[in-house]
Amino acid sequence: MLKRMRNIGIMAHIDAGKTTTTERILYYTGKSHRIGEVDDGEAIMDWMVQEQQRGITIQSAATTTYWKDHQINIIDTPGHVDFTAEVERSLRVLDGAVAIFDAVRGVEPQTETVWKQACRYHVPCVGYINKMDRTGADFFYVADDVKNKLKITTAALQIPIGKESNFAGVIDLIEMKEIRWKSNSDEMEVSPIAPEREEIALKWRDKLIDSLSGVSEIITDKYLASEEIENSLIYAELRKAVINRDILPLFAGASRRNIGVQPLIDAIVSYLPAPDEIPPASALLQKKHDEFEEISVPCDPKGQLLGIVFKIQNEREAGSLCYVRIYSGILKSGIGLYNITKKKKERANRILRMHSNKSEPLDSLLAGDIGVIIGMKLAQTGDTIGSENWPVLLEKMQFPEPVISVSIEPKTTSELDKLKDVLALLSKEDPTFTIRENNETGQLVISGMGELHLDVLVTRILTEYKLSVKVGNPQVTYRESISAANEYTGTFSRVIAGKENAAALTIRVEPAKRGQGNNYVMAAKTQTGRNEIPAEILQAIERGISGSFASGIVMGYPCIDITATVTNIEYSETTATDFAYQACASMAFDEACRLASPVLLEPIMAVDLFCPHEFVGEVMSLVTQRGGQILSMNSKVDIDEVKAQAPMEKMFGFINSLRSVSQGRAGFSLVFSHFEKKPGK
Ligand code: GDP
Ligand code: MG
Repeated sequence: MLKRMRNIGIMAHIDAGKTTTTERILYYTGKSHRIGEVDDGEAIMDWMVQEQQRGITIQSAATTTYWKDHQINIIDTPGHVDFTAEVERSLRVLDGAVAIFDAVRGVEPQTETVWKQACRYHVPCVGYINKMDRTGADFFYVADDVKNKLKITTAALQIPIGKESNFAGVIDLIEMKEIRWKSNSDEMEVSPIAPEREEIALKWRDKLIDSLSGVSEIITDKYLASEEIENSLIYAELRKAVINRDILPLFAGASRRNIGVQPLIDAIVSYLPAPDEIPPASALLQKKHDEFEEISVPCDPKGQLLGIVFKIQNEREAGSLCYVRIYSGILKSGIGLYNITKKKKERANRILRMHSNKSEPLDSLLAGDIGVIIGMKLAQTGDTIGSENWPVLLEKMQFPEPVISVSIEPKTTSELDKLKDVLALLSKEDPTFTIRENNETGQLVISGMGELHLDVLVTRILTEYKLSVKVGNPQVTYRESISAANEYTGTFSRVIAGKENAAALTIRVEPAKRGQGNNYVMAAKTQTGRNEIPAEILQAIERGISGSFASGIVMGYPCIDITATVTNIEYSETTATDFAYQACASMAFDEACRLASPVLLEPIMAVDLFCPHEFVGEVMSLVTQRGGQILSMNSKVDIDEVKAQAPMEKMFGFINSLRSVSQGRAGFSLVFSHFEKKPGK
């Protein structure tokens, strides 16, 4: 069964046709009864009303479907880069992906972003050049663009028949057959290659063999010896090359016209890996409190249970739907399991398999598979589940920094508790969304990845949870850091209930490289004479410092890029308490930083814009007026693309100015790039 399972995602720049293609795949795989049109707001994968109104996919839900004796789990990756965390989370659990390109535009900025992420997670891909029916569509231009921009060897496995509105089908370069689709029919017609297309088909088949021989010795040998290369060998060698990420095979289609989709589903099955054909998951086995050993966990149903929660959706009736990917062992329904991240026992009351329009109860879920657990109470996105006697954590996921905050309060104070509950639910679903209470004003402040991200969350609070809230203006979430090194010795002593609580320690702080985050190092001697400093005291010191990392130096923004080293601990058995050491560490850190030339850092955003040619001048000057820097400009057939960088604080309301200078025809994305010292601070 494992060999016949695929966990795949579909990734694309917004509007390239991800939703349409997914719909067609679900339709042809027989699980969806009618074709939903994105334009009618009827798409099945876009569950949430809001997504349909906005026309973008926010949630990644997993859907299972079947094709030619194979089970395909489709993990829906969001197309909008404001939600990169969602993309990362889904890439973590995919074994392969379909990358969709627009046949007119080729590689677009978000495709590059997502491609880089796919590289980071070593996700094997097949490429699908969609919208071959559009005016200006050019398969060969896009194939070239993909090769150049994504820096991967490509191999066209098909070439198109007909152009633009006459696009009628493809030539399969392995079988050397024509495949056509009649309008208003799902049937494919397979025929020999027409004489006038024989030459070009042979030329492209040659290129295919050439690309393949670059990565396969068997093919090279046969090629050089002018021996016949059987199709079965081509399939087998291509499969290996795709799984190794040596080759990106390219397919052509026009999903909206129902052209090209079935061969794409065949390709998912033929070239993308089964869960046990990729390297085993790497995980951290906890040896002691802070000592881990890296281990690899093969995909084996006979192994110990290990899985990761990659998505949580709150459903009114069922409660938390926890989407899990099982890496090892068998998850059984109705029995206990262990949340290793939270160190808490949980229960999988029920297990479900999600199809596009219904869910199916399962008795168990095997290694390699994806499903939904109902009944877990504490699980958060990113948690590892398994058994209590095997403390293994699957790699932690990396999430980008939240850079925008708004204050939020209920219209009536009686609803404050309800609002807090809803916010807690939402942040369980989405770890890039954080909540804190402003110490001075008592206001609730929520932070996220961008204006759109917070906007979507606020709309959900209003519509899904029916809470009336007042929302403040968006504010930039700055960071604090230091620009010099400093050392401070703190002492602490307080008598509580007649007992002395005392601590003394020395902390050295120094700036870390930008982008490195905070580091905590214990370099003090923890054994003096007969006295060994207990683990609880050491943990209290670490807690004190991580609390200070979060609460800032001068302005109360979180600290970043600081290395804090505890260089000495004075310890006396009779007066030492956890409480004293935690307070002392926190105070010593604050004092050390205050005299280490603190600086305020602001988030700088990567701005990717596109607009029709006639507006590009004005669009670029909009960016520079806001303190942005233009990094590059690229002219496409129908649009110009501009890459820029700008400080977040100048980018509020940018969408409105952009709309007004471009008559609504320009678009952009804003993604956190890095932190930089705020001028003058
Ligand atoms: P997504 O943002 O990647 O999910 O893209 P959608 O599937 O929502 O498609 C964006 C737009 O492109 C919609 O208006 C679709 O109808 C249209 N579209 C999708 N596939 C095709 C196609 O093959 N040809 C043409 N001409 N338009 C398409
Ligand atoms: Mg979509």
